[in-house]
Amino acid sequence: MLDVYTFFIKEFKKLLDFPLPANQYFLPRPYRNSSVQFRKCRLEDYEERVEILESVGLNAFFFPAQKIPGCDLLSDSGTTTMTIEQWSQLLLGDEAYGANEGYFELKEQIFETFGQEWRQAVPQIENMFIFHQGRAAEYALFAQLAYLLKQKGYNLNEIIIPSNSHFDTTQANIENQQMIALNLPCQEHLTNNEQYPFRGNIDLKRLEEYLEQKSSQIPLVYLTITNNTVGGQPVSMANIRQTREITQRYQIPLFLDASRFAENAWFIKHKEKGYHSKTIQEIVYEMFQYCDGFHASFKKDGLVNIGGMLVIKPNGLFYQKYPQFWQRLIDHQILIEGNPSYGGLAGRDLKALVQGLKTVVNEDYLTYRIKQVEKFGNKLIEYNIPIIRPIGGHAIYIDVDKFFNQKGADEDFLGISLTALMLIAGHRLCELGLYAFGKYRNGQEILPRPRVNYVRAAIPRLVYEDQDLLAVAEAIKVLYNNQDNIPGVEVIYGRELPLRHFKSRFKFKI
Ligand SMILES: *Cc1c(COP(=O)(O)O)cnc(C)c1O
Repeated sequence: MLDVYTFFIKEFKKLLDFPLPANQYFLPRPYRNSSVQFRKCRLEDYEERVEILESVGLNAFFFPAQKIPGCDLLSDSGTTTMTIEQWSQLLLGDEAYGANEGYFELKEQIFETFGQEWRQAVPQIENMFIFHQGRAAEYALFAQLAYLLKQKGYNLNEIIIPSNSHFDTTQANIENQQMIALNLPCQEHLTNNEQYPFRGNIDLKRLEEYLEQKSSQIPLVYLTITNNTVGGQPVSMANIRQTREITQRYQIPLFLDASRFAENAWFIKHKEKGYHSKTIQEIVYEMFQYCDGFHASFKKDGLVNIGGMLVIKPNGLFYQKYPQFWQRLIDHQILIEGNPSYGGLAGRDLKALVQGLKTVVNEDYLTYRIKQVEKFGNKLIEYNIPIIRPIGGHAIYIDVDKFFNQKGADEDFLGISLTALMLIAGHRLCELGLYAFGKYRNGQEILPRPRVNYVRAAIPRLVYEDQDLLAVAEAIKVLYNNQDNIPGVEVIYGRELPLRHFKSRFKFKI
């Protein structure tokens, strides 16, 4: 090769070296826009947004999405932009009532994505259950598990399901069956520390203690990958493997809440020793070797706007322990979701999901995705805004206590103030703190324990460009630099209600 080529190839490659200096131009996106959606509102319409905000009682959930000119970072769930391959599959959807084409394709894709050991062992015994979203799969699993446990004579109040941290709907579904959802997040990683890239791990020591003392009360152990509740933090392969070793010793099935399985695999590849030369696909196969079942909301790493699933490993521990489970699950689906071959979705949705699962393990996509979140987080760090570190896979979490340097009373709910003022700036974030997790009982506010006080910016997949997110960072900086001008809020409706953050109304305390 001519020297001129080799010289410049070497120079160009330096542009891609990680970690990139903070201000360096980033990777080009590994995709192109194939369709665009113009906003129906303008950034300059600040006064209009004030009116709307007041009319919805400062509650971000009620704020109409079409009036948000900037980034809507309320959730990364079901908010993905689909690829042209996915859109083409929607047109090819087979809407047959029974055994539609997408069902067979999805089954094959599940084996492709998660490994051939998930393939049915006996044709008539179903092991893959489609649902319209993750929580419907959770409801089905825990309702049928509770039924079978009760039949075996267990007292449901004593049943414990440990996890690195259950997602809130998972926890609610366990508790709805009168069982105990136990969170065992690892201790050493609880503080912000860049040296622990796997803050999502389970505390193996405490898990083992529980299994030693109470194994008869524990029908399942769960790992959420990535661990959403502690900030979208990944779980290491070593932690998954060791959890498997411990649960195997006590003959207790291990399940994954796999909603962000591909993002978790990316972190393993890039942050865990021994995985750098493996492909994302190989890492996914290994993760799923260690479990007996999984459920997922495919509104995340399925890259679709709707869909979820529960899958049981043929001949796994769960399958052996509850041979009647699949029959009950099928009945549940027929009662609630429709024919099991579409599980509450349209046939076309299944085909879009097949394509989404093919795309999501693409390493260029994942690198761009996770680096985009990191770049946004790094901009906030540059502005001295306190966030959970290391930066997780799908969201940035602003630490509200540190943001206000402990000023203000707990009952000012300053996280709500932040989300309200961010809407005026033109962007939507989500309070996940003293209001969302606190309770009001007998005229008294009960704070969440352990104390969590965050405002989350969740990044939808394939939707925004870097500059959109940097604009959000700049608006947050304005609030940070002028925090003495941010008043607390007063709750004018719904303080005592369950799931109150979805329903409440507020006004600024002036
Ligand atoms: C979103 C989510 C769920 C619930 O899924 P839905 O599709 O929202 O019902 C469960 N677990 C995790 C980790 C999630 O992120």
